[in-house]
Amino acid sequence: EPKASPEDNGSAPPPRLPLSKIIKSARKRILITGGAGFIGSHLVDRLMEDGLNEVIVADNFFTGSKDNIRRWIGHPNFELIRHDVTSPLLVEVDQIYHLACPASPIFYKYNPVKTTKTNVLGTLNMLGLAKRVRARFLLTSTSEVYGDPLEHPQTEEYWGNVNPIGVRSCYDEGKRVAETLAFDYHRQHGLEIRIARIFNTYGPRMNIDDGRVVSNFIAQALRGVEMTVQAPGTQTRSFCYVSDMVEGLIRLMEGNDTGPINLGNPGEFTMVELAESVKELVAPSATWKMVDNTPDDPRKRKPDITKAKSILGWEPKVTLRDGLPLMAADFRERLGVATKQQ
Ligand code: NAD
Ligand code: UDP
Ligand code: UDP
Repeated sequence: EPKASPEDNGSAPPPRLPLSKIIKSARKRILITGGAGFIGSHLVDRLMEDGLNEVIVADNFFTGSKDNIRRWIGHPNFELIRHDVTSPLLVEVDQIYHLACPASPIFYKYNPVKTTKTNVLGTLNMLGLAKRVRARFLLTSTSEVYGDPLEHPQTEEYWGNVNPIGVRSCYDEGKRVAETLAFDYHRQHGLEIRIARIFNTYGPRMNIDDGRVVSNFIAQALRGVEMTVQAPGTQTRSFCYVSDMVEGLIRLMEGNDTGPINLGNPGEFTMVELAESVKELVAPSATWKMVDNTPDDPRKRKPDITKAKSILGWEPKVTLRDGLPLMAADFRERLGVATKQQ
């Protein structure tokens, strides 16, 4: 601090105001980790289209792709950093949407130790960053924190039934620690945090070979190969269209509740029903076969979204019947498959 000089007649110089208090601007600078991925790139679109934001994406392109955000590259309000969140990151931002983490089982099981590092070290680094710059921090957690749930549907109060040593644990337990870290930064350092527990989400830009069920079935149906329903086929999931998810994430970030808050579509379908819907809505000639399942597959999953409805005024608008054809149109284009013959 500069000392008062004799010319000041003994009066101390006025303290300097931080620039952010002088330059009044509604413009927010927002970091999106994992912004080159499926959900992240749709979030980038929404925040950029708003016109009031500067968006910085940090992504290591493990499962994401520059193609997903190509339209913004070169835009003055957009910045792309190739960065792995397991290393520290220095940027100055007002908000952090922390999405970086592979979400599909085939990718998060590929290098499970790395998945745990991404969830634990990656989240720690982004929380450390948020603490330094006093940014609000949103974590995209997952319904997988409920494991193979013994309560149905799952409310945020349910503590889960998770195997700590299974092949999915790097993801499930990784996200559970990420939630713990976020809450401890909140309690210990007063950080503003938001936690979304995201249930299965689908839509355009999902990796075609992502391995998750909706992308698998649509790609298989369009390629004319049998859809692979994993046994027993009676297991259920609830599928949320990506535009609904992005709306929920932004409302959570802008609201006053830390969460955790479930975000998902409560419509519940068996995998056989999903295959039948894809057949009906995407490719009437498609067929399916039953194949072996993978270990620890949750038998059912459906969000209780009472909290999201009352606290965020949010509920999904796009039904599976409306969403599947929208996703199929994107897959047709990327697979180079002709438009459906009616
Ligand atoms: P995605 O795989 O398409 O996106 C993840 C992004 O993170 C990719 O761009 C990837 O390259 C990047 N990434 C991965 N590891 C990284 C690292 N170490 N450093 C920097 N970047 C890294 O997945 P998505 O479906 O868009 O999921 C986004 C977030 O939402 C994830 O945190 C996921 O756990 C969560 N989520 C998704 C779903 C879903 O159904 N899609 C469900 C629950 C939770
Ligand atoms: N960190 C970061 N960017 C920052 C500030 C911190 O990546 O702008 C990382 C830092 O390297 C550390 C982690 O965040 O590994 C936690 O930081 P914090 O200050 O909370 O803890 P400490 O550094 O005291 O362990
Ligand atoms: N599944 C399937 N066929 C596939 C891929 C997945 O029947 O080709 C089933 C899988 O057994 C699970 C459900 O679809 O019951 C959802 O799996 P996904 O990997 O999409 O997501 P998660 O298990 O993470 O919910």
